[in-house]
Amino acid sequence: MSNSSLQLTNNEVMTTMSEMGHEQVVFCNDTESGLKAIIAVHNTVLGPSLGGTRFWNYTNETDAIVDVLRLSRGMTYKSSLCGNNLGGGKAVIIGDATKIKSREALFRSYGKFVNSLNGKYITAEDVGTSTGDMVFISQETKAVAGLPESMGGGGDPSPVTAYGVYLGIKASAKYVYGNDSLTGKKILVQGVGHVGQYLIDHLIKENAVVMISDINEERIKTVTAKHKVEVIEKEKVYDSIMDIYAPCALGATLNDDTIPKLTCAIVAGAANNQLKDETKHGRDLIDRNIVYAPDYLINAGGVINCYVELEGYNKERAFSRTDIIYNRTLEVFDIAKKEKITTQEAANSLAKSRITAIAKINARM
Ligand code: NAD
Repeated sequence: MSNSSLQLTNNEVMTTMSEMGHEQVVFCNDTESGLKAIIAVHNTVLGPSLGGTRFWNYTNETDAIVDVLRLSRGMTYKSSLCGNNLGGGKAVIIGDATKIKSREALFRSYGKFVNSLNGKYITAEDVGTSTGDMVFISQETKAVAGLPESMGGGGDPSPVTAYGVYLGIKASAKYVYGNDSLTGKKILVQGVGHVGQYLIDHLIKENAVVMISDINEERIKTVTAKHKVEVIEKEKVYDSIMDIYAPCALGATLNDDTIPKLTCAIVAGAANNQLKDETKHGRDLIDRNIVYAPDYLINAGGVINCYVELEGYNKERAFSRTDIIYNRTLEVFDIAKKEKITTQEAANSLAKSRITAIAKINARM
């Protein structure tokens, strides 16, 4: 969700957990396989917590704890906002992936820890983990999503994520221009990886004028071979004349250096944590009259895909459930306008209000 500078309060995990509202944090160690993992369950009011497992060589354990606490809370808001009956959780595995003796042993050991939570936490892929790793985990627990289609899983979530981002862009256009047509709109897609490429297919179909930027020449070639697009050098992205900026590469691209340069009316893309500082940069965008579609709302297609997998995967249902993103985005914009808050704050408030309402029902019945 946010890149805001969360820190452990006096290095005390329990204090920070209670400030952030986490239910449970589990530290997992298996010396033999080299597994060192932390599973954070933030909130299970709406359902079992779900979120990916990140495999990262953290500089120190504090960074790993901060990351897992922050990311798990983000998953609570994300699932709430997109209508999933899921809570928020996340896990990190600490270590250097190149030094692991057996990936199978590590992930099966991790799967046993996930299983020990009896379905309270469901894992999936994230940075540093793959579908193959989920298959290892699935040998030890049913609490895993992101399995290959051949095993009844949802496979690559990117087409569904891209569809949600496309709907988020259309809703933003409706809000800003009065109608959601993208015909003739200059849209810059930064990052033409898995999500970016599927997103471009939708935009081209609607006759948008697409510009692309990537640091990977091969990926640029793949797109230019398929579509008529203008290629923008990496350094020139923020100075380009555009209507819509769609960050689909990395986080924190909305910051003190870039926001003053932006000429667009809308920022709407797939990348996680686009605002370097959630509050300050959210406000800076308002000051520049730029409408920001919260990243964690419009990129929720991936988690919707996991949710549908848990029900018994059906691609059509994954896409149709993702339709919710269009109206939710408009709802968030309306709340932000009425309450004079940033769109990120409006999204957070909408996510929290659903959890509060369902918690009351749970308490009554
Ligand atoms: P990806 O790795 O397939 O693609 C990212 C692309 O960005 C790559 O082509 C890479 O070369 C490019 N890139 C990296 N640095 C760049 C830079 N400075 N300028 C321009 N391009 C640069 O990743 P993806 O799966 O397409 O995901 C894109 C973003 O969306 C990520 O932030 C990811 O966390 C987020 N996201 C993805 C999904 C999903 O379903 N894949 C779901 C939710 C969020």
